Amino acid sequence: MDTKRLISIVVPAYNEEEALPLFYEQLRAVLDELSDSYEIIFVNDGSSDKTAEILDRLTAENPAVHALHFSRNFGHQAALSAGLRHAKGEYTISMDADGQHPPKLIPEMIRLADSGYDIVLTQRVEKETKSSFKKWSSETFYKILNKVSDTQTLPGGADFRLMNRESLNALISLPEFHRFLRGMVSWIGFRSVILPFEVPERLAGKTKYSLKKMVRLASDAVFSFSMLPLYIGLSAGALFFVLALVEVVYVLSFWISGNSASLAPGWSSLMFMLLIIGAVLMVIMGFIGVYIGYIFQEVKHRPVYILRSSPVERPAEDKSSGTQYPE
Ligand code: UDP
Ligand code: MG
Repeated sequence: MDTKRLISIVVPAYNEEEALPLFYEQLRAVLDELSDSYEIIFVNDGSSDKTAEILDRLTAENPAVHALHFSRNFGHQAALSAGLRHAKGEYTISMDADGQHPPKLIPEMIRLADSGYDIVLTQRVEKETKSSFKKWSSETFYKILNKVSDTQTLPGGADFRLMNRESLNALISLPEFHRFLRGMVSWIGFRSVILPFEVPERLAGKTKYSLKKMVRLASDAVFSFSMLPLYIGLSAGALFFVLALVEVVYVLSFWISGNSASLAPGWSSLMFMLLIIGAVLMVIMGFIGVYIGYIFQEVKHRPVYILRSSPVERPAEDKSSGTQYPE
């Protein structure tokens, strides 16, 4: 009887034609050494390069490799969610397709899980020489997030982690549309341990996390895990109320002492107050707007991603009729 455990590896990939074959080699070398059996679930997040073809080749040559194909680019967090949902293993490990989450850590992660941890988190320790915008923005982001949020998220945490069946089932049961998985994993609790690792260079290709995608992830994190922006509104309102009361008392004191003639008309101070109050109101309205937007998207109950059955080849563009296919 085969008593081997199943380890699932979940890998989102978006336009990773260059890095993917190299990463697969690295991963195979580690997995083949394990005494457990494994499955690798690649999630093709609507790639427009040769990622789909490479995955087809890998699935054909290795029955342990599976590929899910999205109907368009839904983003890293959606791709992770899809892969995690399909994983059948006793332990499931999620990692990037570009080699920045080194497969050689896998045996250590499994060992930690075997020693009784439900979740093995990893933490990036960047080389000192690396003073990139990414590093700075990530540090600032975690500082702010952990200040404003009730759920504490590990600074420098990566979406490179092992979850056992029980904790993964808990994560999968969270149905929200706006997904910041690092926060969600911390929210569900369980016993976790942190494994630090040095981030290697990308195997090939360029980062697929554009500034726009980073900003979207950050706002998903803040607005799904914090009510603080709304409370900022409340406290600003309270502050202005107190200021107004002070002003009333101040003006009344002139009237009571019969000194009302000395109340000078103050255009600039009035303007200043108007502008400040206007600005604060608008910022607060903005915060409320964002929350309403989030609520709106949640109540629509749209799925987080849509799969398509096969990575259909694009039909050749028909020059004669002038048809074109969108990117
Ligand atoms: N990725 C994805 N969908 C996206 C963007 C990225 O599936 O819309 C994948 C990408 O292929 C990689 C992982 O997410 O496997 C991390 O992305 P990347 O390495 O570009 O981010 P960085 O390491 O630069 O933060
Ligand atoms: Mg990367």
